[in-house]
Amino acid sequence: MKKLLLVILLMGFGQSYAQDLVPIPYFQRYWPFLFPPHLEPVVDPNDICVAGEDSLVEIVPTTLERNPKATYCKRSMDIVDTIVIHHSETPSSSTVEDINEFHLNRGTADDPWYMIAYHYAVTAPYKGDKKPESKIFQGRPLDLVGAHAGSDAFETIDEKQKKILEENPTSCGSDGGVFSPNTSMIIDGKKTKANNTSVGVVVIGNYSPFSRSNPNGYPKSKVRNPTPETIDMVARLSCQLQKKNPSITKIRWHNFYKATSCPGNIVKYIQTIRDKAGSYGCKFN
Ligand SMILES: [Zn+2]
Repeated sequence: MKKLLLVILLMGFGQSYAQDLVPIPYFQRYWPFLFPPHLEPVVDPNDICVAGEDSLVEIVPTTLERNPKATYCKRSMDIVDTIVIHHSETPSSSTVEDINEFHLNRGTADDPWYMIAYHYAVTAPYKGDKKPESKIFQGRPLDLVGAHAGSDAFETIDEKQKKILEENPTSCGSDGGVFSPNTSMIIDGKKTKANNTSVGVVVIGNYSPFSRSNPNGYPKSKVRNPTPETIDMVARLSCQLQKKNPSITKIRWHNFYKATSCPGNIVKYIQTIRDKAGSYGCKFN
């Protein structure tokens, strides 16, 4: 009996990567009648999870809850030209699931959020700390427009991007529904929403000083900075993204677009991220 219990426990806690690199707990695979999975594993063909020969960094696949009632937009990856760096403003111990849950609760009843706003979430210790372990997790699939640069932030588009947007427009809808082209994605013939042409990367943690609007910021005596490993990881991710999508040539940060404390002290390392990415064979401005 004891042996049987042990086997049951091991089966329950084990993970299988057999299908499409998305982990499915054994109890869901073998006893679906007892534990019906509430989430379908989703594989994003545009994503860069699969570690190939020239892979620079491992991306941990995730199965994040989505709000089936929420509207979201799909885009052609050929219009995407920018990576936008954020910090989460949460403790560094937060997980990608925590941020996803936070964002699922962030919308209103009329306009709920679909899932995590960012395409990648990086867990990392503050400089001088040892935890948490540095890892990159998949967030929102890359071909979905993110919700991170600010809905009132815009970017100029060139003729090539304009043509792609005209021929293969960003279209919006909800799961199980019809996706319709969003004609307001080309603004004044020369601009689009910054979210439409960017990839959101969040470093989990709070890299800004304490203030009334940032009560969980660091005290003056304990300034928080990213570790060189974190900067290197973001550089590797950026370069891997460019290798897969050569149209991505810019690295920006949240308060490039609007007045916000995000991404805190990480902003001081943007040029280092670009330079590091350069050492891996990429070119960013
Ligand atoms: Zn931000």
